[in-house]
Amino acid sequence: MVLEILKYPDPRLRKKGVPVTEVTPELRKLAEDMLETMYAAHGIGLAAPQVGQSVRLLVIDTRPRDEEGNIDESAMTELERQVPQPLIVFNPEIVVARDKTTYEEGCLSVPGYYETVERSQYVEVKYLDIDGQERLIKTDGLLAVCLQHEMDHLEGKLFIDRLSFVKSNRIKNRIQKHGYPTPEEVAEERAKVRERREQAKAEAR
Ligand SMILES: [Zn+2]
Repeated sequence: MVLEILKYPDPRLRKKGVPVTEVTPELRKLAEDMLETMYAAHGIGLAAPQVGQSVRLLVIDTRPRDEEGNIDESAMTELERQVPQPLIVFNPEIVVARDKTTYEEGCLSVPGYYETVERSQYVEVKYLDIDGQERLIKTDGLLAVCLQHEMDHLEGKLFIDRLSFVKSNRIKNRIQKHGYPTPEEVAEERAKVRERREQAKAEAR
């Protein structure tokens, strides 16, 4: 079932997620619905507070896809490739974080807006999987960035809160005044950002 994704400034996005004590059938169903919702919205990550559920749960699939939706593993780092995706993550906790990286981030709760955010380049994240088993992810690349972005949601924090005061206010004021771009405009912006990211990647090589 595709769920409604809340958009900034919905106050429910500011609520902290509560830790999961047991992975119940209801939580498994929520995780599946979140994955379906994320894919339908062309996202690479979704946190439970974004669908109005204040629990520490996130779903992620950062595997790069071409226009036809085929997965292109060559664009992933070695560490990323070792992590089976899609990921369903309960109670994530960063146990190691090192080095810095930047990425032009977007968010399904702030559609049509993209800004460069600084994150840790490498992280180790402890979590519970769908069977309630404790696991550890060691990763870098886009997956590391995405994990940190989604974990922010569990604290009621958005990527636009991590920008400079001026940039953050510019975006927030624009949304308050004009609302969000149309789905067509959002798709257009997504395509542009995709191109810019490819370029940045090519230049970094
Ligand atoms: Zn987000």
